[in-house]
Amino acid sequence: MIKTGNGLIADFIRLIQRKLVASSLLIAGAGAVIAIVMVGLCAMVLYQSREDALNHTRESLRDIALIAERDIERNFELYDLSLQAVVDGLKDPEVMSLSPRLRREVLFDRAASAKYLGSMLVLDAGGNIVLDSGSDAPRKGNFADREYFTVQRDNPAVGVYVSDPYASRLRGGAPSIALTRRISNSDGSFAGIVLLSVNLEYFHNLFAGLSLGPNGSLSLIGKDGVMLMRHPYDPRIVGRNIKNASTFHHFMAEQEGSFGDTASIDGIRRLYWFRNFPNTPLIIMAAAAEQDIYAAWRRRALTIGSLMVVFGSTFIGLAALLGIQLRRRMRAESELRLLARTDGLTGLNNRRSLGEILEAEWRRAKRSRSVVSLLFVDIDRFKAYNDTYGHQAGDDALAAVARCITNCIRRPADTAARYGGEEFIVVLPDTPTEGASEIAERIRSAISDCGIEHAGSEYGRVTASIGAVSCEPRHDDEVTAVIKAADEALYDAKATGRNKVSLSRV
Ligand code: GH3
Ligand code: MG
Ligand code: MG
Repeated sequence: MIKTGNGLIADFIRLIQRKLVASSLLIAGAGAVIAIVMVGLCAMVLYQSREDALNHTRESLRDIALIAERDIERNFELYDLSLQAVVDGLKDPEVMSLSPRLRREVLFDRAASAKYLGSMLVLDAGGNIVLDSGSDAPRKGNFADREYFTVQRDNPAVGVYVSDPYASRLRGGAPSIALTRRISNSDGSFAGIVLLSVNLEYFHNLFAGLSLGPNGSLSLIGKDGVMLMRHPYDPRIVGRNIKNASTFHHFMAEQEGSFGDTASIDGIRRLYWFRNFPNTPLIIMAAAAEQDIYAAWRRRALTIGSLMVVFGSTFIGLAALLGIQLRRRMRAESELRLLARTDGLTGLNNRRSLGEILEAEWRRAKRSRSVVSLLFVDIDRFKAYNDTYGHQAGDDALAAVARCITNCIRRPADTAARYGGEEFIVVLPDTPTEGASEIAERIRSAISDCGIEHAGSEYGRVTASIGAVSCEPRHDDEVTAVIKAADEALYDAKATGRNKVSLSRV
């Protein structure tokens, strides 16, 4: 069944309410989605720039480590050439027959006087100094206890050996490392070693010139795990064996690479880049602290993030405000629309609304070939009522009659409207004559039963006369004809005693 009248108004109000909720939710939702997308994009950009900072640092670490490695390798190559020159010279009888001063100049070339080099010594099989780059008369000393000596003595095939750091006995305890080579007799037996000591200050100065940020570190480590030098310099760390530290396992696994780890030495989390020297048993490791890597990024992220939060929340706030304003406006509009359709005194449909409802019902009845009934209700002797009880009492009586009418129509499709003055029209779709007269009678008696005193009426109370008409509209029938017929039936009721229902068939 198609709803009309009061039912239509209820549907209309529900529809408006749904629209209000839907549109304000839509605006707030769209605002939230846009804000989320904006925050998401911003987070993506920030994440990318964080990755960039990490990659950029990794590149810098690799460059710095490479610079240090090249410098050290070039110098070590030169040192080894000097060691080999001594080994070869010792085998040359011509060289050995020279005077001590000339022999010293021939054996220990200018490399021995390079900066950071301690001294070059030749030790015999017992570890005693036999030749000294420092003086024609060799200094007194025995180094048979040093590891660089025993390694060469016990292993003929070691080649050049890089020692762990030690405190130099000849140079007042200066921290040094030694490069040694074995001297063998013609039968291959051990004849001693040639030794070149390098002051650790060389690495210290080299590393200090390379910038790695406030908490960065640069280390040179022997393949056996002994820390040869570390910047920032700490005498307690140099010489320590880090073989068991987690970082060291990475060095052994690959030739070169990068990883993040927390340093066992100071507990700072760093990004490491390491490389095993190709020709020397050394590992160079450059590291930057994560707190330094991300310091600039963090500042930027904080600024952008806070701006994003402010913009995002302002945006959502504005969207919510807009939604609320729109809701208010739509509510006001719907109230106005409702007011425009309602009679202010009785709360029933007004005449304008009645016209629309009647037209719609008329068309529908034509289409479905159904019967429409119309009741024309007119209060009896109402002029007299006004004259007796005053206009305000008249208004109250009108409202009471309207309530009686509304209470008597139960189907959602039934509609009551104020036609004008003290006249009402009730539209009853799909209602034949019998039903219409029954409802008309119900309305009539309800008004009478209200018992509103009316001294000017022959019934002593407020009553109404009703003209009822039922009709099945045909193609060219006009709705005005039905109203006219109902009015005529009403006239009949008035003429034949009032407080009664008169029926008419169009
Ligand atoms: P009848 O029984 O023949 O219908 O007599 P009647 O007096 O009811 O009819 P009439 O058309 O002569 O008078 C209608 C009166 O209704 C006129 C007016 O005083 C009163 N009236 C119309 N509209 C209003 C209203 O809004 N408020 C009040 N209080 N009275 C109204
Ligand atoms: Mg009248
Ligand atoms: Mg009247």
